[in-house]
Amino acid sequence: MTEILYMPDIESNYIREWDAEIIKQKDDYVVLDKTAFYAEGGGQPTDTGWLEWSGGKARVHMVTKKGIIKHHIEGQLPEGKVHAILDWDRRYGHMRMHTAQHIVSGIVYDEFQARTVGNQLYHDKARVDFHPVKFTEDDLRLIEEKSNAVIARNIDVTVSNVLRPDLEACVNEERCNLDLIPKSVQDLRVIEVPGFDICPCAGTHVRSTSELGQVKIIKKDNKGKQRVRITYVLE
Ligand SMILES: [Zn+2]
Repeated sequence: MTEILYMPDIESNYIREWDAEIIKQKDDYVVLDKTAFYAEGGGQPTDTGWLEWSGGKARVHMVTKKGIIKHHIEGQLPEGKVHAILDWDRRYGHMRMHTAQHIVSGIVYDEFQARTVGNQLYHDKARVDFHPVKFTEDDLRLIEEKSNAVIARNIDVTVSNVLRPDLEACVNEERCNLDLIPKSVQDLRVIEVPGFDICPCAGTHVRSTSELGQVKIIKKDNKGKQRVRITYVLE
């Protein structure tokens, strides 16, 4: 089992270098005893980076999680102890886009009662699908305005573990998509923007909304009946 370093609290989301040990190597991948590499999933892309060891350095170009967390390597596989380094600009972009997505999704639910039904983050932009809804240009400006008003409160973001019944008691399950998480999952990692949003999520986030800048919606696409995709950047 690999210890996931960014899980326990918000500060751990900022770990960008650490020492680790290879516990398995096969084909083109290695498994580490501990990692801060985010494995692709939930609309957040894979982290990339490097593993360094005495006498070598290897590129981590993709990280996947299917039972075990595999760090896919280009070239020679390392052995033994390594020093791991994330491509920080890319990862930090994902953190900013992800926290912003929680805020935008919360605002859209509050204003239009439309759910988030898909999302894809990149380091420099993100897109989110909502249903059922149609947005006018004025609606898009309203989403920006309301999202930016939350961001401007410079709220400290927190990470915690909450038991499902406790979370069910204090959130709207549709608003945070809790009803989509299998009932068998009872222990949930929760991202909170206190006073605005509580959402179960395994992604990486920034420690304060002050790190986000301003949401600017740059595109709207109709993706079928009552389903709308909006794309935003952070300025
Ligand atoms: Zn999330």
